Amino acid sequence: MKAVSVVTPGKIEIIDVPDPSPSSTQVVVEVAAVGICGTDLHIFEGEFAPKFPIIPGHEMTGTIVEIGKDVTNLEIGDPVAIDPSVHCGECFYCRRARGNLCESWNALGVSMPGAAAQYLLSPKKNIHKLSRGVDLESAALIEPLSCAVRGYDQLPRIPGSHYLIYGSGTMGLMMAELARVNGAASISIVDLNEEKLKTAKTLGFTNVATSASKFNQPRGFDVVIDCTGVIAAIEDGLSYVMPGGTFLQFGVANQDAKVGINPFWIYNKEITIVGSMAVLHSFDRAVELFTNGVLNADAMISDRYPLDKYEDALHAFKSGKGRKTMVLPNG
Ligand SMILES: [Zn+2]
Ligand SMILES: [Zn+2]
Repeated sequence: MKAVSVVTPGKIEIIDVPDPSPSSTQVVVEVAAVGICGTDLHIFEGEFAPKFPIIPGHEMTGTIVEIGKDVTNLEIGDPVAIDPSVHCGECFYCRRARGNLCESWNALGVSMPGAAAQYLLSPKKNIHKLSRGVDLESAALIEPLSCAVRGYDQLPRIPGSHYLIYGSGTMGLMMAELARVNGAASISIVDLNEEKLKTAKTLGFTNVATSASKFNQPRGFDVVIDCTGVIAAIEDGLSYVMPGGTFLQFGVANQDAKVGINPFWIYNKEITIVGSMAVLHSFDRAVELFTNGVLNADAMISDRYPLDKYEDALHAFKSGKGRKTMVLPNG
């Protein structure tokens, strides 16, 4: 089969590798769509992936083409979405049901071969069956949605709250959709890129601006969510947390970046700062929300590339011009 290989940081090749074959508890999926996100850019630039070469791609859907002999609940032809998380199930954190903090954390497309390939080998427990006839390209949004659902698990979910979201890319927009589902009193979205704010407007979010100072919210916001990982945005966002409010660090900052925080303010105004990492018991709920139509995939997905053009897709994503970029390995 054809696959994308990040050979070393900054270097991508299209390679020919043997078709995968399943062990008794694995399945082989013919990949329909694989989304590109900031994590893939970090991997391309040499972060996250513990070793190279690696086949990237962790936001994926496809159709089952082969099943191991001990797989009983899946059939060839089933349309599926795949949770990329591979937790050991045995370490200190896994035993505390915190598998996303696993001491031997792995993920398809990060530390194990991913879906930027014609076929993907997956443990059966990572497979989530979708309904027949589902649009598999749109359904590749389920994985990032499951990360957003995990983010909300870390937040107080109080109806009538005011939300401020930094970043109007896929993750910011998913966070905004979930704020709506959670009964937000208002949802404000800030992004320096006016093009990205247009998508927010298409989705019905009217409080959008290139600076949070434009929003009339004198007490600040109950919930501020950073979906950028950009230090200036994070510092700005912290200054808009209402007394008693919560700040969620969802965007991925560079590993050694630092921000200044005023401990007196955290104490005196009872500020909560939380983080959220990847997926944790949230994939099934993302499937439910997706099936219920919480996302407008047509508005979110802007670009489609064949597998051979994976590197072009990465660069296009990095340029910030489009919205969600999908690679279609068998399209
Ligand atoms: Zn991702
Ligand atoms: Zn573990």
